[in-house]
Amino acid sequence: MNIHEYQAKELLAEHGIAVPKGHAALTVEEAVEAAKQLPGPLYVVKAQIHAGGRGKGKFKELDANAKGGVRLAQSIDEVEEAAREMLGNTLVTVQTGDEGKQVNRLYVTDGVDIAHEYYLSLLVDRASGKVAMIASTEGGMDIEDVAHNTPEKITTITIDPAQGFMPHHGRAVAFALKLTGDTNKQAQKLAKQLYEAFLQLDMEMLEINPLVEDKESNLLVLDTKMSFDGNALYRHKNVEEMRDETEEDPAEVEASEYDLAYIKLDGNIGCMVNGAGLAMATMDIIKLNGAFPANFLDVGGGATTEKVTAAFKIILKDPAVEGILVNIFGGIMKCDVIANGIVQAAKDVNLSVPLVVRLEGTNVQAGKEILENSGLPIVSADDLGDAAKKIVAEVKKAA
Ligand code: ADP
Ligand code: MG
Repeated sequence: MNIHEYQAKELLAEHGIAVPKGHAALTVEEAVEAAKQLPGPLYVVKAQIHAGGRGKGKFKELDANAKGGVRLAQSIDEVEEAAREMLGNTLVTVQTGDEGKQVNRLYVTDGVDIAHEYYLSLLVDRASGKVAMIASTEGGMDIEDVAHNTPEKITTITIDPAQGFMPHHGRAVAFALKLTGDTNKQAQKLAKQLYEAFLQLDMEMLEINPLVEDKESNLLVLDTKMSFDGNALYRHKNVEEMRDETEEDPAEVEASEYDLAYIKLDGNIGCMVNGAGLAMATMDIIKLNGAFPANFLDVGGGATTEKVTAAFKIILKDPAVEGILVNIFGGIMKCDVIANGIVQAAKDVNLSVPLVVRLEGTNVQAGKEILENSGLPIVSADDLGDAAKKIVAEVKKAA
């Protein structure tokens, strides 16, 4: 789960980490009020969306020369103007995709006189089973570009959670940022605080870009992105409350209500599968046959008619879907029960695109008969390869 920048900064502040002062705002009036509570004379108005690259982003509704989603304002009037231009409009950044994201919240924060921008992030490194801390002197820009063009400017420090954060880890971070004197000390302390917050809140990723040194030689977190391990959210009610469903894919939110694991993808073949492994294999075989999956969808072990219907509806809401492939292994579930569910669901949703079903497992024969006798144009397939070939061909035929 992701949260907004202003929420992430609240959490960091609770851990004693220095962030510029600021307030969230939902309206132009609130933005003005927020600015009045800050000392000025420089304010920054920042679009709050779950995507980075806001500064260089463009608003769909504004002309191409208009400023992006991070705006410096020299007065309260300029704050008001920036808020008016941003709220309700759609910001497109390198991370939002072409459709962009509507800006419904702003963060009005203190302007900082920046001397240097650094990069610092923490993430769970699955390969080593440790926490990786990544530091670079090249902050404020796209870290992927830095990694590609100047990989020597990125240092990775791994911390074994069994051992915990040691002073040498802090020194390594400060050294990687090429800091000396007092800022070096600040960086060591900050690295330890970030590591502790990361662990305590069960984060998956914590990125600070940029971490800045201001003209008074203070290190400050200027921008941050945080994501959390969804399986651990029950331990952090305060974080769970920060969830902003308007930022999430509506289909994914609906799917989670039915306990379906659904992830939207870019292709045209909707997939309904039980078991994550089978779902992955199904997507691979669709690609092998020259088409692309429109989604990952695992209906789970105990798929009921209700669940199957919900899954169908979610898949069909995606206008890109031109055909559906159902691939179910009847293990705990019996194939005839599944077939009944599919027929019922197909009728309920008035299925308008080709449907190929591959069933395997207990009572498979009975299941196939139910599909055949349903009167619906359901194409039955024998195995995974056959199923993928058939759905790709059906979609081509329909086009
Ligand atoms: P994003 O990464 O989404 O573009 P950032 O918060 O990193 O958004 O802002 C982009 C750039 O805007 C920063 O690299 C920094 O140069 C500038 N900036 C952001 N916040 C402030 C601030 N409070 N004071 C001064 N400059 C800022
Ligand atoms: Mg940033």
